Amino acid sequence: MALFRGRSFLGILSIALLVLTSYLLFQISLKIDPKAGLQLNTYLSTLSFFNAVILFGWVAFREFGGIPITALALVVSVWISLKSGYYGASSVFLLSFIATAFVGYVYLNMKSKIVQLYLLKSEKLSEEINVLSANMAKDKIYVESLEEKLERYSSVKEVAEVLSTDLVLENINNLIIEKTAATIKKSGRVLLFLVDAKKQELVLSASDGVSKVMAKKGDIFDHWVLRQRKSLVIEDIAKDFRFSADNIEAAKESFKSLIETPIVSENKVIGILRVDSINEAIYTHDDLRLLDIVADLGGVAIQNAMLYSRTQELAIKDGLTGLAVRRYFMERFQEELKRAARKKGKLSLLILDIDHFKDYNDKYGHTAGDLVLRHMARNISSKVREGDIVARYGGEEMAILMIGLDKAKASDEAESIRESIQDEPLTLRRHKAHVTVSIGVSSYPEDAILEEELIKIADDRLYKAKAAGRNKVCAK
Ligand code: GH3
Ligand code: MG
Ligand code: MG
Repeated sequence: MALFRGRSFLGILSIALLVLTSYLLFQISLKIDPKAGLQLNTYLSTLSFFNAVILFGWVAFREFGGIPITALALVVSVWISLKSGYYGASSVFLLSFIATAFVGYVYLNMKSKIVQLYLLKSEKLSEEINVLSANMAKDKIYVESLEEKLERYSSVKEVAEVLSTDLVLENINNLIIEKTAATIKKSGRVLLFLVDAKKQELVLSASDGVSKVMAKKGDIFDHWVLRQRKSLVIEDIAKDFRFSADNIEAAKESFKSLIETPIVSENKVIGILRVDSINEAIYTHDDLRLLDIVADLGGVAIQNAMLYSRTQELAIKDGLTGLAVRRYFMERFQEELKRAARKKGKLSLLILDIDHFKDYNDKYGHTAGDLVLRHMARNISSKVREGDIVARYGGEEMAILMIGLDKAKASDEAESIRESIQDEPLTLRRHKAHVTVSIGVSSYPEDAILEEELIKIADDRLYKAKAAGRNKVCAK
């Protein structure tokens, strides 16, 4: 209808032109002398004009203009021929009008077919554009997720690198917390529990410190992971059927969702790595996968740090008595002497030897002798102040470094050690043995300032104590 309306002016114009021309032609035909015939130019211009108007009608007005105009042209041409008697010219008119109308009709048909084809093509094109843009949107999301994954996995690589640079357990624990937060990149707390092998319980070893952790030995979720040796993802703790609502009432205040995973080393769970949040359902299985990787890397680093500290301990600890070894003692002695010299401090050295130790070995056997040594070590370690250094100096000789004590105070301490050993009998093969010790004391700076001299003086005084009948302290 829009087309009809849009082109109605042209249609009406063409009909008006046709009517006007027909009228003029009719007037001309009345004046034509039948004997002289129709002028060629009048004939041709009439023909062209009628044809042009018919074509114009079809093109501008389609069948709504084309059919009436053609019909009118035919009627007019028949009428003219009837009136003027030019039947030959009129039949040419007639045929040419029909031909023009046919051309107009074919043109319209082709045009509508082309338009249809064009519409079909443009529809197809827009469909393809839609599919392409949907694919592009999908690809964009995919690329973005790949970029995020790449970023996350490169941060995992960094975790591996960073964790291999340190061997101190505390540093490793803090690094695990820091790197977990950096890898998961979601708001929330990060907690690391390690298993106390002796007590077989969890101990909170590090956290991101954002909020206070109430359950320092882990809560039901941590214990579940420890027991099941499995990772855990919870979207909302209040809705998880595995955990009874009574047990999580207090927990709901601190967190709603969590992911956690066991840290396994040599087939043993040595800890738990956990991330939780006050928001519901913020962690995905992808986050858990990353947490697993960080936990695996962390597990290796923790195990290495534990082994390192154990090796260090072994290197400075005597295997039988658990006291420091002589080498470590000498290092510390040197350090403490330097410190004392710098700060004008004092320190005393005690060298202690078990009296007639050979007799215990001979009487009760070497193993019983070892027992005496262990007993002595325990006894002495429990008597000295914290910070003093006790070492196994030789076979059954022990050395004690009393930091900050002058000769008088160190002698008192030595006396109290001697007494407590004397008063504490030891049962060896069902016999009560009264073990005694002799002690030599030397002090810095009263006796000497050099390490070797202080050792020699203490050693000499020890032998003085032996010579004086044993079970004695000699400080002069
Ligand atoms: P004294 O009162 O003069 O010190 O007499 P003593 O028998 O203790 O003599 P000495 O100190 O020379 O004795 C050292 C003995 O300590 C020799 C050795 O059999 C024993 N001994 C050294 N190391 C160990 C050890 O690790 N285990 C045992 N069971 N005995 C040891
Ligand atoms: Mg000895
Ligand atoms: Mg001895």
